[in-house]
Amino acid sequence: MEVRDLRKAYRLSRGQMLRAVDGVSLSVMPGEVLGLVGESGCGKSTLGRCLLRLMDVSSGRILFEGRDITSLNERAMRPLRQRMQMVFQDSYASLNPRRRIGDLLAEPLRVHPDADGRRRSAATITARLHELMELVSLPRTALERYAHEFSGGQRQRINIARALALSPRLVVADEPVSALDVSVQAQIVNLFVDLQARLGLTYVFVAHDLAVVRQISTRVAVMYLGAVVELGETDSVLHHPAHPYTAALTAAVPRPIVGGMRAIPLRGDIPSPVARPSGCRFHTRCPYAQDRCRVDEPVLRPVRQGHEVACHFPLDGPA
Ligand code: SF4
Repeated sequence: MEVRDLRKAYRLSRGQMLRAVDGVSLSVMPGEVLGLVGESGCGKSTLGRCLLRLMDVSSGRILFEGRDITSLNERAMRPLRQRMQMVFQDSYASLNPRRRIGDLLAEPLRVHPDADGRRRSAATITARLHELMELVSLPRTALERYAHEFSGGQRQRINIARALALSPRLVVADEPVSALDVSVQAQIVNLFVDLQARLGLTYVFVAHDLAVVRQISTRVAVMYLGAVVELGETDSVLHHPAHPYTAALTAAVPRPIVGGMRAIPLRGDIPSPVARPSGCRFHTRCPYAQDRCRVDEPVLRPVRQGHEVACHFPLDGPA
């Protein structure tokens, strides 16, 4: 998947524009896990939904397997939806409480034809449901039960099974573990890792927990106020952040990702996306801001192999 200068804006009642995604360009290669990180409201979940065309975009381009899907209508998107699926944060809201799990998981298999364009038989669907239960380590008896009979972690396993039902290539996971207890988080992240290895999946993994992102991601995109400010291989970005915002995020986690990480304080709150600061969007909170930062917007440029940053005065690694 590739996105070019993607923008998603909302017009508010007073005529102001809320720029949730503000000119993002990036690519996700087959078999890769791209972590999307940033504070609440930075636009990462909106970007995830835009990638799958769960919402229309304001401008820019989205290419999936080489095809421009930016303006496809729902009918044209339908066959593509088999290959791109989403796992949502709220595992309970995602599951209809009045229907058995087996029914919920069977629905996409009934709606979408198989690879030869034929409707699946009941026996084929049942066999696939059993496979899905095995993939997410739940007993087949789970298919007969209802969502409220499961724990949060089990419900997220069910949501993952539903996302995998049609054997997608790309899965966008939107904060899939942030509502779970810490002990359960690790199990679900391990499940994502295991499934990625077994099935060769490609993930866009949206999270605010850098420890989770480090565990699962091949590359990381750090978002701030709707834009990607740092992008690169996970170890390079998290161990040697070049953007002061990334450095502040990595230093702020309870157990620093790297001992001795430069401790950069984050000043103030994230500004409103309705009133984005001029120049560098981070300058109102950046301890290194200079005059140029207030007028000249930095763009992503390489700082080292496989690592780009949008900063006029990038950091050169841990202190
Ligand atoms: Fe800070 Fe300036 Fe870099 Fe923006 S461009 S992150 S304000 S040093």
